[in-house]
Amino acid sequence: MKERDVVLIGAGPAGLFAGGKFLNSDLSVVVLERGRPPKERESITYGIGGAGAFSDGKLNLTPKIGGDPSTFGRKGEELLPYIDEIDQVFANYGGGSTYSGESEEGLRELKKKAGKYGIEFIPGKQRHIGTKKIREVINNFYNYLVDEGLEFALETKVEEISYDGEYYELKTEDETYRAPYVLAAPGRSGAYWLREQAKSLGVITNYGPIDVGVRVEFPAEIYQPIEEVMYDAKFRLRTETYDDLVRTFCTNPRGFVVKEPLEDFMLINGHAENSNKSDVTNFALLSRITLTDPVEDTTRYGRSIAKLANTIGGGKPILQRLKDLQNGRRSTEKRISRVPYQPTLTDNTPGDISMALPDRVTVNLTEGLERLNNIIEGVTSDNTLLYAPEIKFYDTKYQVTRDLETNFDGFYVAGDASGHSRGIVYSAITGMIAAEGIVEETNHN
Ligand SMILES: Cc1cc2nc3c(=O)[nH]c(=O)nc-3n(C[C@H](O)[C@H](O)[C@H](O)COP(=O)(O)OP(=O)(O)OC[C@H]3O[C@@H](n4cnc5c(N)ncnc54)[C@H](O)[C@@H]3O)c2cc1C
Repeated sequence: MKERDVVLIGAGPAGLFAGGKFLNSDLSVVVLERGRPPKERESITYGIGGAGAFSDGKLNLTPKIGGDPSTFGRKGEELLPYIDEIDQVFANYGGGSTYSGESEEGLRELKKKAGKYGIEFIPGKQRHIGTKKIREVINNFYNYLVDEGLEFALETKVEEISYDGEYYELKTEDETYRAPYVLAAPGRSGAYWLREQAKSLGVITNYGPIDVGVRVEFPAEIYQPIEEVMYDAKFRLRTETYDDLVRTFCTNPRGFVVKEPLEDFMLINGHAENSNKSDVTNFALLSRITLTDPVEDTTRYGRSIAKLANTIGGGKPILQRLKDLQNGRRSTEKRISRVPYQPTLTDNTPGDISMALPDRVTVNLTEGLERLNNIIEGVTSDNTLLYAPEIKFYDTKYQVTRDLETNFDGFYVAGDASGHSRGIVYSAITGMIAAEGIVEETNHN
C-alpha cells in the first residue's frame, strides 16, 4: 500500500495541468496513468497527454468554446488568467505562435453573414499547433513536470475506488494507493468507468446531453474563405423539422479523418497535420440529444448508437456520399469512386448512415448541412462525404462546487470525464482549478 496526499487519475491535459499546480505545494502527489510516456505511445486515447496529445492541438482561447463555466459556478472572465497561462505553457514548450480569429472585421462580417441564415457563429482567438508539434509540446511539458519532482506511475490503470469516510483507496493491478484527496481526470475514454465508480461511492451525477453525428469531408477550397477568418470556425443552428441544435465542431482544414477507438466500440474523429496536408477539409456535424425522465441515460443511448453503427459498418466506419444519403440509397465502392478525391480514412465500409443513426439525427444533419451551405458555399456538393459515427460523450455531469469538488469530501473531478469540459483548454482549466482547490483546502486543514 502506498500513501500519498493526492492521487490524480489520468495524465491528459486536465491531469498534466493539475500536476503543474501541485509543484509549488508541499503535498505528495502521484499521477496514475494507464498509458505510456509520450514517445512510446501508440494509442490515440491512452498515455501521457491523453487524447489531446494525438489531436492536432487547436486551442480555443476563449471561455465561450469548450465548456460552460456556470456549470461549476464560475464566470467566463474568471477563466481568462487560466487561458493565458495555458497558452503560455504551450508557447514555452514549443507550440509556436500561429493564431487565427484575430481579425475583428473578418469575425464581424462572418457573424453577420451567418446571422442572416439563422446560424450562430461563435468567434474567438485560436492557436493551432498541429499533430506532430503537439506531441513534442506534451513531451517537453511532461519532462518538465518529472524534473520538478512530480511522481508518475505509468501503465497503471485504476480499477476500483473505495472510501472509508476519510481515505480513498485506489486499486490497480499491482498496487493499492491510499489518499485523502482524489482528482479524477480519466477523460472520455475513462468516463464510463468513472461513472460506475462514482455510482458505487454515492457521488452525485446528473445526465447531460450527447452529440451524435458524422464527419463531413469535402474539397479544401470550399472552406478557404472561412479559414482565412477563423481556422476552426464553430457554427450552431436550430433545425426546421425538430427545432434541435446542430453544430459544427473540430474543423480540420486540409486534414484527415481518423478512427477513435474506445473500449468496446469505435468512433470517428479528425485532425490536421503540420507538414502532411490533404486536399480536403473535415469537420464534425453533430446533433444534440437530450433525454428526459423517465429515460435519462444518454450514455447508454449513445453507446448503443455507436455499437449499431459499428455493426452496420462491419466493425469499420460507415462512409456515404451526401448525395446518396439525400437520395435514400446506400453508397457502394463504385459510387464512392466517383468522388474526385481519395477519402482520407481508407479503412471504411461504404454504406447507409440512415440505417445506423436515429432518423431524427439524420434529418437534423441533412437540414443543418443545407443551411450551412449558405455560408460554407459548396459544402453540399456532389463530392461531399460523410463518415459515421461521430459521438461526443460528455453526458455525465458531476454536481460540483466552484473548485470541482463533488459531494464527497476530497473527491474532485476534472476534464472531459467530469462533464464540465469538451476540449483541451477547458479540460486543462478544470484540472488547474481543482488542483488549486485541493491545495487551498489542505492549507486550511
Ligand atoms: C482525434 C482527436 C482530435 C481532437 N482534437 C482536438 C482539438 O484540436 N482541440 C481540442 O481542444 N480538443 C481536441 N480533442 C479533444 C481533446 O483531446 C480532449 O477534450 C482532451 O484531451 C480532454 O482532456 P482530459 O484530460 O479530460 O482527458 P484525456 O485527454 O482523455 O486524458 C485522460 C487520460 O486518463 C487516462 N485514463 C483513463 N482511465 C484511466 C484509469 N482507469 N486509470 C488510469 N488512467 C486512466 C487515459 O489513458 C488518458 O491518458 C480531440 C480528441 C481526439 C480524440
